[in-house]
Amino acid sequence: MNFETLAIQSTQFHDANASAVVPPIYLSTTFEREPDSSIPHGHIYTRASNPNRNALEKAYAALEGGAVGMAFASGQAATTTLFQCLLPGDHVIIPDDAYYGTPALLLEVLGLWGLQFSKADMSDLAAVEAAFRPNTKLVWMETPSNPLLKITDIQAVADLARRKGAYSACDNTWATPVLQRPLDLGCDVSMHSATKYFGGHSDLLSGALIFKENGPLAEKARQLQSLGGAVPSPFDCWLIVRGIKTLALRVRQQSANATQLARYLRTHPQLEAVHYPYLESHAGYEVAKRQMVSGGGMLSIQIKGGAEEALAVKSKVKVFIRATSLGGVESLIEHRATAEGAHSVSPKNLLRISVGLEHVDDLIADLAQALG
Ligand SMILES: *Cc1c(COP(=O)(O)O)cnc(C)c1O
Repeated sequence: MNFETLAIQSTQFHDANASAVVPPIYLSTTFEREPDSSIPHGHIYTRASNPNRNALEKAYAALEGGAVGMAFASGQAATTTLFQCLLPGDHVIIPDDAYYGTPALLLEVLGLWGLQFSKADMSDLAAVEAAFRPNTKLVWMETPSNPLLKITDIQAVADLARRKGAYSACDNTWATPVLQRPLDLGCDVSMHSATKYFGGHSDLLSGALIFKENGPLAEKARQLQSLGGAVPSPFDCWLIVRGIKTLALRVRQQSANATQLARYLRTHPQLEAVHYPYLESHAGYEVAKRQMVSGGGMLSIQIKGGAEEALAVKSKVKVFIRATSLGGVESLIEHRATAEGAHSVSPKNLLRISVGLEHVDDLIADLAQALG
């Protein structure tokens, strides 16, 4: 079945009570047992399972081509859960430009619990190989990366991890399964901040882990999901299910808009660099062409000068909204170094852009006037 059909079908719901086409929201935290104590619909308590969450988790698995999907209260809760599936003393390799919350979590929280990690340039396979230690249990990818849109060859890194006896996972937030399916390329786990494209309307916080196999790793994560309790509310699950129905349409249009914007910006005299995977000049272009359907809705630009010049451009936009985050219908622009704070390694003259669903001509005109 094609993605669009799967997105509608996998989120369809059989409602035995009222034959409603759109699923009801099950707010109940607890579920009644039969007189003989049996559990008629498989639910006991909402932290362990809930009809709306089950529906969402089934859709996640279908859309990413995995055996098991799991929904969490945020992207960070999903990431935390996967890292907690490992043991103190285990080692993780992460990208040198991962989403800033990923190394912060390892350094400030899970490192204290004994999880070791090192960073590698994931676009360089030899550098990834050199980062392996005898106790490496997981290689965490993120592609396109944040905020430089570096591209990792998912298949090559997943193969390497398997040869070394480690799991591989990919933060697939920026590409979404519309454009890239890491499990098809050999990854064990795909992760999402569903706050972004899955929700798609900047009105909910959630995360996902999708496992290729229903094996020991998925079992451990399921246990942590229920015991740790970082689960999304039934209403948020319902909203994401609604978002999934238009995911392909939104992401394709956002990607088309971003491609046009990147092509316009590429030759702009005020810019030092434009980072977009589907520009021929991008270092990861060949790999991106192979593993992504199109370039996605995110791009970054570096303004000639420094932080001051970048902030001046940002202050002049009228259509773009000055805010962090991404994946919503509205276009956003942010000075990434400011958003990341003290530990930021992002270039000081970099503005990150999340392209929305406005008409691309209006987006181009707005950046043109802001760049002056
Ligand atoms: C936003 C984001 C996260 C964190 O997700 P939250 O839902 O904010 O917890 C992780 N990775 C990437 C690439 C993100 O953009």
